[in-house]
Amino acid sequence: MNEKIWLSSPHMGGSELKYIHDAFDANWVAPLGPNVNGFEKDIESFLGADVKVAALSSGTAALHLALIACGVGYGDEVVCQSITFSASANPIAYQGAVPVFVDSECDTWNMCPNHLREAIRDRLSKGKKPKAIVVVHLYGMPAKMDEILSIAEEFGIPLIEDAAEALGSTYKGRACGTFGRFGILSFNGNKIITTSGGGALVCHSEADKDKAVFLSTQARDDAPHYQHSHIGYNYRMSNICAGIGRGQMEVLVERVAARRAMHDFYVGLLKGVAGVQVLSEPSADYFSNHWLSAIVIDPVVLGKTREDLRLAFLEDNIESRPLWKPMHLQPVFEDTPYYGKSVAETLFNNGLCLPSGSNLTEEEKDRVKRIIAEFFSQV
Ligand SMILES: *Cc1c(COP(=O)(O)O)cnc(C)c1O
Repeated sequence: MNEKIWLSSPHMGGSELKYIHDAFDANWVAPLGPNVNGFEKDIESFLGADVKVAALSSGTAALHLALIACGVGYGDEVVCQSITFSASANPIAYQGAVPVFVDSECDTWNMCPNHLREAIRDRLSKGKKPKAIVVVHLYGMPAKMDEILSIAEEFGIPLIEDAAEALGSTYKGRACGTFGRFGILSFNGNKIITTSGGGALVCHSEADKDKAVFLSTQARDDAPHYQHSHIGYNYRMSNICAGIGRGQMEVLVERVAARRAMHDFYVGLLKGVAGVQVLSEPSADYFSNHWLSAIVIDPVVLGKTREDLRLAFLEDNIESRPLWKPMHLQPVFEDTPYYGKSVAETLFNNGLCLPSGSNLTEEEKDRVKRIIAEFFSQV
């Protein structure tokens, strides 16, 4: 059996261990310490735009705290992009709130501004004003931020950007994660950089960051004994994980370049093949980190499905994966409202994420290339 080729695997840069050693030497093996502060500073200067960043235990935790900060509570409604990973929507349910899912548009595969407006108008007509909007930059591709921000402003609803997959992506030159009232990042093992597991909340004031850090460290009031006036969480990042993050920040720009090169690799392979579309930037306003390269194939034109391609890869021990199954089609969100048509559903039916790691060798790329060549030449 050939060695397994992963969709997206961790890729260390080299200096991660140095930061971990520093932590051990100083006995900072705790959920705070110099690596946590250093990692936060590194992300802040990378993102620019004067943001304050809180390093947390996961992207999911970051989104949960963002919803709390936006005042989302029991029985509230939150508008959320339907095609995404479930972690974009689960924290809405943690708060006892109800997600209202919205379809995508075909250019970026992200939240459709028209259906967003339709959703907000209809919820308002039913007497419910959504408490927040969660937009996602899927696979690193920036959403249509001008349109979505202006709708959020028009209706006075805070926007939360799920930039878990989009660290290093920009829209009109500005970093994804810095547009909304809050942004969230993830450093899970499969993301463009990893801390083995972790996330961050991107804030626009020191006060918002302080509040998030307070809640993430069990909401302890200022007293010598343990005194609490709020429900707290154990969501802070550890100094060890942050050490890995500091090492990873040193190579982030290289990782983005390598992921973008993988996208170009697939564009080159599939150029001129009818019935295939590679997710690509719609204009020069968009700069994607291309965390995952993804395609949609037209089964009518090709006479074959994305499942046939997935199985052809699998036969050679190569991992590929259908696009995220839309949340409005998930059993767990069965009875939630949905606005849109079938863009997200069609993407799910015909879309596939291809091996996209920044660490693929030339031999591994040759194997991927051979499967693609065979699959599409048999048309
Ligand atoms: C990975 C991911 C998350 C969650 O991040 P974790 O750090 O794994 O909790 C949220 N949203 C999207 C779109 C993701 O891809």
